[in-house]
Amino acid sequence: MSEITPEQLAFDQQHIWHPYSSMVNPPPMYPVVSAEGVRLTLSDGRELIDGMASWWSVIHGYNNPVLNEAAHNQIDKMSHVMFGGLTHEPAIELSRKLVEMTPEPLDKVFIADSGSVSVEVALKMAIQYWHARGQASKHKLITIRNGYHGDTFGAMSVCDPVNGMHEIFTGVLPQHFFAPAPQIGFDESWDDKDIAELAQLLEQHHNEIAALILEPVVQGAGGMRFYSPEYLKRARTLCDQYDVLLIADEIATGFGRSGKLFACEHAGIVPDILCLGKAITGGYMTLAATLTTSHIGETISKGGAGCFMHGPTFMGNPLACSVANASLGLLQAMDWQSEVDRIEAALKSGLAPAKELQSVADVRCLGAIGVIEMKEPVVTIEIQKLFIERGLWIRPFGKLVYVMPPYVMSDADLDLLTSGMVEGIHEYRG
Ligand SMILES: *Cc1c(COP(=O)(O)O)cnc(C)c1O
Repeated sequence: MSEITPEQLAFDQQHIWHPYSSMVNPPPMYPVVSAEGVRLTLSDGRELIDGMASWWSVIHGYNNPVLNEAAHNQIDKMSHVMFGGLTHEPAIELSRKLVEMTPEPLDKVFIADSGSVSVEVALKMAIQYWHARGQASKHKLITIRNGYHGDTFGAMSVCDPVNGMHEIFTGVLPQHFFAPAPQIGFDESWDDKDIAELAQLLEQHHNEIAALILEPVVQGAGGMRFYSPEYLKRARTLCDQYDVLLIADEIATGFGRSGKLFACEHAGIVPDILCLGKAITGGYMTLAATLTTSHIGETISKGGAGCFMHGPTFMGNPLACSVANASLGLLQAMDWQSEVDRIEAALKSGLAPAKELQSVADVRCLGAIGVIEMKEPVVTIEIQKLFIERGLWIRPFGKLVYVMPPYVMSDADLDLLTSGMVEGIHEYRG
């Protein structure tokens, strides 16, 4: 079955929730029947260049033969087996790779089923750590505004209070500490004032705070902002000074996206807890991981519970772990640094003309991420039509029109993507 029928689309509109969608006024859906390399094929035969990499994840392109083979091989052995009391090679080899790729001393791996779950796990680790050390009062979190850490309750409680819609969930969400978002850009010169409020909050409240959680250098869904690595360096120092753990959420930035294998490397720091996800399986299926140090792992394990209190049904899913192994193997085997640098250069030059447009407030690129910030919020479905006419799949939100292409996108396709993006914005009348 390749074509999607009008009846099927109508069923979709009436019965299926899509991400952040309405059941009263459902947005139009573009049915996809297949995908290859950097292109999605729609039911009517149109092809779209995917600027989103399916939300940061498809780094090696769709229908990748190496990832396909890994999935086929594993599915013929076993798709899944419970992880409680049982173990298997895909999980062992994936964990070995993660320990190898991430900086020391991160060497304890929790394999989680999605990014949000890996954040929940990170928060629980931090709280259990202080509990095990007899400091149960250190159970609050601190974060910076404009963050995004996922849609589950723990993760949502550390998302930006406005974007994260804390208002609706007041009284349900635990109340944490928020410092202002860093204002100094990636390349701008540093001023200690940028971190003064975070420093002050830590000084006043460190006895209640288990951890600082943030997205290192690149804030993703909470605003597509790139901030100074100096901020991160100083945040690390403050955490050490005030006995607060540092959780780096690299679910979006991990595996090369920001121009370093992990964005923390821009600042030369190592977090106490690291969350990974999105690109980990090359976008084939859901999988994530939370890494921590031996010290934290052992402290938690010597605490009252005697173990870490988390263990989802599909933890360590062998099929997902196998594909992740293959995806990380591809990443290690390729010169990803050159590819990401090449994409950064193409995005910088290709998106530069947008700076001249009346409707555009800012254009910024870092690694394989390109952002055009508009002066006014766009109507997603309207601007999306203009991109689709140009053969592009881009999904803007608010004032942000942004792309993070698969690492395998050719120069010619990058050119089509950036020129189409600029043209679409030029033609858009909000
Ligand atoms: C996407 C994302 C998450 C949530 O991951 P899901 O797999 O969607 O649950 C958390 N943190 C960051 C930084 C993300 O980009």
